[in-house]
Amino acid sequence: TSPFAAYEMAPLDPIIGLNEEFQRDDFPQKVIVGVGAYRDDAGKPYVLPCVREAEQRLVDQKLDMEYSGIAGDQKFVDLSLKFGYGEDSGALKEGRIQGVQALSGTGGLRVFGEMIRRHGHKHIYVPNPTWGNHIPIFQNSGLEVRKYRYYDASNSSLDFDGMIKDIQDIPAGSCVLLHACAHNPTGMDPTLEQWKQLSELFKKKQLFPFFDAAYQGFASGDAILDAASLRMFVDDGHLLGTIQSFSKNFGLYGHRVGTLSVVGSNAEEAARVVSQMKMVIRPMYSNPPRHGARIVSTILDDPKLKSDFYEQCKGMADRMNTMRTKLRDELEAVGSTRNWDHIVKQIGMFAYSGLNKEQVMEMRSKHHLYCTADGRISMAGVTTGNVSYIANAMHDVSK
Ligand code: PMP
Repeated sequence: TSPFAAYEMAPLDPIIGLNEEFQRDDFPQKVIVGVGAYRDDAGKPYVLPCVREAEQRLVDQKLDMEYSGIAGDQKFVDLSLKFGYGEDSGALKEGRIQGVQALSGTGGLRVFGEMIRRHGHKHIYVPNPTWGNHIPIFQNSGLEVRKYRYYDASNSSLDFDGMIKDIQDIPAGSCVLLHACAHNPTGMDPTLEQWKQLSELFKKKQLFPFFDAAYQGFASGDAILDAASLRMFVDDGHLLGTIQSFSKNFGLYGHRVGTLSVVGSNAEEAARVVSQMKMVIRPMYSNPPRHGARIVSTILDDPKLKSDFYEQCKGMADRMNTMRTKLRDELEAVGSTRNWDHIVKQIGMFAYSGLNKEQVMEMRSKHHLYCTADGRISMAGVTTGNVSYIANAMHDVSK
């Protein structure tokens, strides 16, 4: 008998599986606004011109393809930390912030989960809702995943009071995940004053913050502004962990570029933590890939390419924001009497539409429009060409 005879067909991934279902649909006007990957206004994948230029420079240098170290490309890590924590971060200058190159955000989350589990953590707190993959990533790291309130579906807004109340009850020393900006899937972030309250509460309750920075630059269009929450926590003296992903802001999805870092109480402590990250990485995947990290460090190390990046990243954020307004306006134009203002109020890559699972399934079967079951619409997939089609479908299932 086959050694695989007892293997059952696993269910499709709720987000990635949507693409497979979409591929099988042969309706010509089908639309997918599922996975969070940026598209240009013609609906095509977009490679930032600064990335193209950096690649050309790399090809011209005829670099070798030797292994990276376990912690990856140190120059990339240094530039990435400056990008996240700020060029003139005091903690960075003191050497208290150190990290490793990670297999993008996902890989960084997994290594972090594994590392804190080895160091006595039994659970981690995440917002409800959160990016779907957070839960299995941390469960696979051996952690119990607990949730704190985040979103009020009845009025499509941040449930800040509920968030504060739940965080107040979290046991001291617990690790609590925060989305640095452009919360996925809700598109609702705390204001700066609310971040300040959170920072004080985390201090008072002795909680261990862990920032997921997957959308730096995608929220406001300004990568510096989008790091405000993280930088505030560091300035307030928190010791914390962070993952950074370069999938969205640099459009390097398939290159798997990211960083996992910590802010320790001193440089020697931060170095000890990095040594433990390496203990997790070596038997897991040995070392990370080179090319994407070289692209990012080429860009961040060159004043011209860096300013091109800031501009091109803003261009993506601006296009998505224009589409938010268009989508809301189209919904009104087709006669929807529901309030869709939250689509415009939300930020980042997603519109958390408020459509329920039944409505989502009806859009799929009747209109060949694919979004995730929680009603999350990737604004990156909305274009001048399909926005009224999408509005019609949304109105049809929600009237
Ligand atoms: N965190 C959040 C909140 C995300 O939305 C994503 C991607 N959808 C990631 C992390 C990880 O993405 P990647 O592994 O491509 O960096």
